[in-house]
Amino acid sequence: SSLYKSIFPSISRVLSVTTTTFGLQTRNLVSPAARFLRNQSCRFHLVLTAILLLTRGISNSGNATCIPELDISDSSAVISFCNKWGVGLVVVGPEAPLVSGLANDLVKAGIPTFGPSAEAAALEGSKNFMKSLCDKYKIPTAKYRTFTDPSSAKQYIQDQGAPIVIKADGLAAGKGVTVAMTLEEAYEAVDSMLVKSVFGSAGCRVIVEEFLEGEEVSFFALVDGENAIPLESAQDHKRVGDGDTGPNTGGMGAYSPAPVLTKELQAVVMQTIILPTVKGMEAEGCKFVGVLYAGLMIEKKTGLPKLIEYNVRFGDPECQVLMVRMESDLAQVLLAASRGELSGVSLKWSPGSAMVVVMASKGYPGSYEKGTEIRNLEEAENVAPTVKIFHAGTALNSDGNFIATGGRVLGVTATGRDLEEARDRAYQAVEEINWPGGFYRRDIGWRALPQKELAPKK
Ligand code: AMP
Repeated sequence: SSLYKSIFPSISRVLSVTTTTFGLQTRNLVSPAARFLRNQSCRFHLVLTAILLLTRGISNSGNATCIPELDISDSSAVISFCNKWGVGLVVVGPEAPLVSGLANDLVKAGIPTFGPSAEAAALEGSKNFMKSLCDKYKIPTAKYRTFTDPSSAKQYIQDQGAPIVIKADGLAAGKGVTVAMTLEEAYEAVDSMLVKSVFGSAGCRVIVEEFLEGEEVSFFALVDGENAIPLESAQDHKRVGDGDTGPNTGGMGAYSPAPVLTKELQAVVMQTIILPTVKGMEAEGCKFVGVLYAGLMIEKKTGLPKLIEYNVRFGDPECQVLMVRMESDLAQVLLAASRGELSGVSLKWSPGSAMVVVMASKGYPGSYEKGTEIRNLEEAENVAPTVKIFHAGTALNSDGNFIATGGRVLGVTATGRDLEEARDRAYQAVEEINWPGGFYRRDIGWRALPQKELAPKK
C-alpha cells in the first residue's frame, strides 16, 4: 500500500512487471487508511501487469489495472504498451525477465526503467560471475571452486571435508543450493546437478563453497549505475519450521529494522561489499541499475559480513516490511536511479518497526493442495489500522471468496512503535484468519525479541 501511495503522487503511470502481485486486500474499504488509499488512487492511474496473474486482490482494490494478456517475455509488446499508455517508469521485478534482457530493450526504446540489464543481472543469474567479481574486486565471500566435472568436484569436496555447500551456477528457482552436512550429501548434490541434470543447464556448472557459520541478514541498496544508497535493514526467516528448522523456503516472515545490522555494520557492508560491487560492475562495462539485495552471513568467528549471494531485485517478504516503513516517495527515488541521479538522495523511514508473517499452503515447500478457501481477511485487517495483508498467491472463486493458489499465499504485515508491538499486531491479524489449509511460523522475530506464548491456534 505504501508502494502505491508513494508512487501515485509523482508519476501518473507506472508499469510494474511482476510475477506475483503484492495486492492489498481492500474488498471492504472500511478502515480510514484504506479509504484514503482509494481516494488517492482515483486521482492517478497505476498500470500493473502480472504474468502469472494468480492474485486479483490488487485489481479489486481499484489501485491497479492488471493486464494479464501482456506477455512480458515479448519486449516489443511491452514497449508498444508503454508508448500507447504513456508509461513514465517501468519497474522490472522478477529475475527471469531481467536476466533475459527486458530492461535492455526498454532502455534502448527510451523508456525510463528501473532494473538491471541482462549483463548486470548476471550477478544473480550466474553464481560463478558473482564469485569471479568478488575475487577480482576483493569482496569478502566464502572460499570456492567451480566445476563441470563430477569427479574433480568430489575430489575437492573430499579434500575440504563437510559441512560444505554445493550450488548450481544458474537460476534454479531458489532450489539450487545444498548445505551438505556430510560428504555423502555433498556427492549426491554434485551428481544430481552434473550427472542427472535436475536443474538442466542451470546446474551444468557447480560451485563448491566453504560453509560459513553465523547469522544471516539481508541488505538492500538502490543503485543508479555509479551511486548506491542503503535501504533500512531487514531480516527474514528462510526455514519452514519454528526455531529455523526444516527445509529452506522463499521466506516465512521478516522484520525491520534488524538489530543485528547495527549502523557500524551497515557502514562496513557498504564499504566492503556494495560499493566495490557497484564500482566493479562499472569497470567491467555493465553498470548496475536497480536493487542490489545482498544475502550476507555475519560470521561468528569474526563478526564481519561475507557475501553469500546477490539478488538483483526486491526480495519477498523483506520488501513488505521495508515498504510499509518507507516514507519517501518511492517512485521519485526509482526514477532518479533510472536516470543515474541518486547522488545526494536520502530516504525517510518511519522510526518504528514492521513485521510480516507469511501464511503458506500446508505442505509448502513440498507439494500442497491448491484452491483451499481463506476467510476473515477483512476482520484480520481490521485488527489494527497498521495491519496490511499482501497477497502473493490468491484468487477469487465463483462465490467471490478468496482461495489459495500458491505455496506462499499471504504476507500479514503490521507496523508498531517497536518490534514487539508490530509482532503482536501481525500475529493478532494472522490468528483472525480462518484458513484450515494454511500454516505459518509462530516465532518470526525470535532472534530480536523475547519469546512469548501465542494464543492457541483457531
Ligand atoms: P543462496 O541461494 O545462495 O542464498 O543460498 C540459500 C541458503 O543456503 C542461504 O540463505 C544460506 O542459508 C545457505 N547458504 C548458502 N551459502 C552458504 C555458505 N557458504 N555457508 C553456509 N550457508 C550457506
